[in-house]
Amino acid sequence: MAKDGELIMKFGKLFSFRGGLNLAKYQHEPADTTIGITGIPERLIFPLQQHIGEPAEPVVNVGDKVLKGQLIAQATGPISAPVHASSSGTITAISDYPVPHASGLKASCIELHTDGCDQWIADRKIIGNTYKQLSPIELGEHIHQAGIVGMGGAGFPTNIKLNAGQQNAVDTLIINGAECEPWVSCDDMLMRERPAEIIIGAQIMMHALHARRCIIAIEDNKPAACSSLKNTINSLKPQADSNNNPGTLEIIEVPTIYPTGGEKQLIKILTNKEIANKELPQNSGIICHNVATATAVYRAIFCAEPLISRLITITGDIPHSQNREVLIGTPAGDLIEMGGGQRSALKQIIMGGPMMGIALQSDETPVIKTTFCLIGQTRKSTLVDITNKNILPCIRCGACADVCPAQLLPQQLYWYARARDFKKIKDYSLSDCIECGFCDYVCPSNIPLVQYYRYAKAEIFSLEKEKQKSDIARTRHEFHLSRLQREKEERAARHKQKINKLAARRPAIDSPAIDSPAMDSPEQKKSPPHTAINTAQNNKNIETP
Ligand code: SF4
Ligand code: SF4
Repeated sequence: MAKDGELIMKFGKLFSFRGGLNLAKYQHEPADTTIGITGIPERLIFPLQQHIGEPAEPVVNVGDKVLKGQLIAQATGPISAPVHASSSGTITAISDYPVPHASGLKASCIELHTDGCDQWIADRKIIGNTYKQLSPIELGEHIHQAGIVGMGGAGFPTNIKLNAGQQNAVDTLIINGAECEPWVSCDDMLMRERPAEIIIGAQIMMHALHARRCIIAIEDNKPAACSSLKNTINSLKPQADSNNNPGTLEIIEVPTIYPTGGEKQLIKILTNKEIANKELPQNSGIICHNVATATAVYRAIFCAEPLISRLITITGDIPHSQNREVLIGTPAGDLIEMGGGQRSALKQIIMGGPMMGIALQSDETPVIKTTFCLIGQTRKSTLVDITNKNILPCIRCGACADVCPAQLLPQQLYWYARARDFKKIKDYSLSDCIECGFCDYVCPSNIPLVQYYRYAKAEIFSLEKEKQKSDIARTRHEFHLSRLQREKEERAARHKQKINKLAARRPAIDSPAIDSPAMDSPEQKKSPPHTAINTAQNNKNIETP
């Protein structure tokens, strides 16, 4: 276990974060050193919510034919992201399907049956190097339209983090290439095989942020990725920003200690800045994006390609571990089979790494924009199960609090999760828990703490959804009542106006014109006022024989 200060001694200019664990002993059979390309599955499933924020809204109907790259669901609200078809085919359903969420609940998805043609939409507009003439807002809009979200697991819409530079004067962009969980190697492969995409993507982001400095952080156990990126930086000309000043772009190796890849932990290691709970890194002039997100930005700007595929590691108890380029929406079970695994032999599929991943409720659960790893586990698993131990009561030893890199009080979170006291657990900053599993790992009572946190997060999530729904229903009802009231008042006002008009007209009708000679007659002056009806009646009477 690393202690504060150790890293400063070992790495000189680097700093340390609280906690930290070397997981080298859990390394599994390495994935192949080539990127595998998967075929087109028969069926693709696109959850409408693959990001933090509001779910997207379908813009297609069942029976519609769609092309690859076509928008099938549009963003709703300021924090949201659109969804695009990752292959051509026919929309066969818009319904609830299993989605990758710790709650195990189903959620709204669009189902597409592919036609095998993989036909792209026409008129894809490539921006290319002209991105330098675009303002950060315009660039952010292109990135938003491409549906790009944080691909390191968080899923925050990328354009929002890029536009944060407008208000927060971002100085440093960190490109996170530190994947610290064992068995996961897709980012390593990406850095080795597609370094130019990462570097150009980083330059586009620097332009959007007006950032003067970019650090690409790589763990020190990835020398091939490091030299691949360094060679590419040397071969590419530095890109000047709008002020004609190229920013600096450097590679920094960071220790292979879990959870270095966590945003706050990485910022602390590189800059010694502590991002407090509930604080955002941009308030400290720093923005952090994953290497895969940088690649997606490059593809959006230089290839007019929305986020419809990504690199993921497929590993576990399967004959052939590999990093594969996978279409978003591909069912997890299909991918395990491509690696030679048998669905019937699987105990579970974990989406994510062994420390932070979640067990999927169904092998039909699709790969989404934030999926970076699938681990197939058979009933006779040969993998080390880091968390499967005999559970005992909490002895309040405090070991979990000592190691928590988010500086939380895990035992308190555990108690409040058990007691379903969700208000208290929020007060104890559950949302800052990065689910690193450290507390689980050190707990002498083997309590599956992270499971409790995920349960609490899922409950809070569904309670907030319910509250949102009831708030919307209440607002609608109040709006309905106020509309009825307004209509009533308008009717009353119109009625009053009519009466006033009639009243205003009455003397004019009742009284003869001022210059009428009859006015001057003494009889007329004496006669009582009479109405138009009277006058009409009188006329009628005159005409009646
Ligand atoms: S480490 Fe385990 S036993 Fe110790 S306080 Fe935390 S939850 Fe309780
Ligand atoms: S899982 Fe959450 S509470 Fe536990 S150590 Fe990690 S950040 Fe802290």
